[in-house]
Amino acid sequence: MAILADYHTHSIYSRNHHGKGTVEENARAAYEKGLRQIAITDHGFNQKLYGIRRKNIPQLKKDIEDAKEQFPMDILLGVEANIISSRGDLDIVVDDYKDLDILLCGFHRMVKSTSVREQFGFVLKNNLCEIFHHTSKRQIERNTNAYINAMRKYDIDILTHLNHVCKVNVEKVARVAKETNTLIELNGKRLGMSDEEILTCYRMGCKFVIDSDAHSPERVGDCHLGLEAILRLRIPTSAVVNYNDLPKLKNHKQTAEPEQIKPAKRKPTTKTKSATK
Ligand SMILES: [Zn+2]
Ligand SMILES: [Zn+2]
Repeated sequence: MAILADYHTHSIYSRNHHGKGTVEENARAAYEKGLRQIAITDHGFNQKLYGIRRKNIPQLKKDIEDAKEQFPMDILLGVEANIISSRGDLDIVVDDYKDLDILLCGFHRMVKSTSVREQFGFVLKNNLCEIFHHTSKRQIERNTNAYINAMRKYDIDILTHLNHVCKVNVEKVARVAKETNTLIELNGKRLGMSDEEILTCYRMGCKFVIDSDAHSPERVGDCHLGLEAILRLRIPTSAVVNYNDLPKLKNHKQTAEPEQIKPAKRKPTTKTKSATK
């Protein structure tokens, strides 16, 4: 027991070898580690180097259906959408929801924004703040409003690596995360937030999710950074939605209640197609 789901993994659908594993390989890794749910959440469409392409979503869906036949576990189709403007726009459109079981949101470098002004004033500005290790109060306010607006505009399930590259006022973001039932991620690659900021989220009543952010199958389910953080900060595990439990996600078109998704008993076999079929 302990972590039962990994809601943040990248696959080969994050282009240019950014994600290393196929859907099957990620699912196999999750299954072998005893997880009950895994989400394939490649980078959003406006990430110019690594982003998944919309035209590849049908094939991703098919890969997920195939993997479900091999591994008796819940495999979710998601995307790690990019926050692309100071108004809180994400790089998804309403039509994308029909394909999604889970929506993650994070800030990333090299994303295409909504206008030249936003490209420089929001995306590039945050990149420079990161390089020079200084973010002005004005930029923090701009970023904070972007996150708040995004949570109000979209049904976001999880904010990924909050405060990484895009610095925000964590208390203000946490207040709206609580209000909108948006989970705060403790990310397996980088925490983003300081210990004090993680505690602020907890005191504000936010719920956490601990994910791997795996870019290769070997790292699927590797959640030690997040687990160490809650241990170190004495945050009760009841504040972590995927610790010995599974949450209800906003976008998940689940046919069974999370508690009905039981761990698999049988070992998966390598899929073989019947020749007589
Ligand atoms: Zn990310
Ligand atoms: Zn990621």
